Amino acid sequence: MKARLTELGWDTDLVIELDAAAPIAAGREIVVEVEACGVCGRDCIDRAGRFGFVQVPIIPGHEAVGRVIGIGPDVTEWAVGQRVASMHRDACGACEPCIDGETSLCGSAAAVLGLLIDGGYARWLVAPEGCFYAMPDHIEPALAAVFNCTLGTAWRGLTRAGVRAGSRVLVTGANGGVGAAALQIANSLGAIAIAVVRRQEHVGAATAQGAAHVVVDDGGGFHKQIPGGPIDVAMDCVGAPTFNSSLRSLAVGGRLVAVGNITGERIDLNIGYVITFGLQVIGSSGANRADMAALLAHHERHPLDVPIHARMPLAEADRAQRIVAAGGLHGRVVLVP
Ligand SMILES: [Zn+2]
Ligand SMILES: [Zn+2]
Repeated sequence: MKARLTELGWDTDLVIELDAAAPIAAGREIVVEVEACGVCGRDCIDRAGRFGFVQVPIIPGHEAVGRVIGIGPDVTEWAVGQRVASMHRDACGACEPCIDGETSLCGSAAAVLGLLIDGGYARWLVAPEGCFYAMPDHIEPALAAVFNCTLGTAWRGLTRAGVRAGSRVLVTGANGGVGAAALQIANSLGAIAIAVVRRQEHVGAATAQGAAHVVVDDGGGFHKQIPGGPIDVAMDCVGAPTFNSSLRSLAVGGRLVAVGNITGERIDLNIGYVITFGLQVIGSSGANRADMAALLAHHERHPLDVPIHARMPLAEADRAQRIVAAGGLHGRVVLVP
């Protein structure tokens, strides 16, 4: 069974298809028997056509976990029986970033799951071996599925910005999946996490995720009301509506990590402010295998969690996407074939 997006937008439901037998892997592909696949906000943005890249018809889903049941003749990295989870895309393996292990910065990735090749809303996922990282057996399927896109994104952003014990870390959109993950990770690294949420109703959840302080702000003016003074690292999960206030929260020499831009809008940037205060603006996405190995090791010492709003059967993929698109959830929705 798989769920296919045949038309952009919300007028046509995802189409459920049944398959007769497991697919055969070719070349450097592997076949993964999917245990679970996350329904990401990004899937809904793609369905709505807000990015021009999606090639319909396509099976959505870049957050799959499962066991390898078949390998192509040219596969070198995986064997049948191993448990793997997917990243957004593969990498060429030959360019300078790839050779340095920075595969998410590869400019030649051709296989982007759910966008350019079929993704994980399926019982069987067939994709190039470079799309996957090793997933330990003991992490339960729903958490394993969303590990890369939530915890991995937050981990890469925070570690690239040099967060360490004692750092004061601000997280905007702290009630979202990546925001909540960032609070937990910052806290587990010994940093002081300060959450920014839009509404009072999210305060309890942010505190539960490890925020030492929660600022409620709906207007992008939260830099004026941060308890305890300036911030070392601001992780901006919202984008245009919060970017300038995140920037103005920073101490001299502070770092802003941009990991999301929900509205897709542009902003005015006061370049003089960035220069004068020696600020750094870092874009971050796509945790790579090295990031995931480091994060999984950290998880063994400091267990992390992602709240799961619902586990739904694959046959209900369309309804699952509509629930995610409607928003307001305190956790992730995961499809279980
Ligand atoms: Zn995702
Ligand atoms: Zn490359």
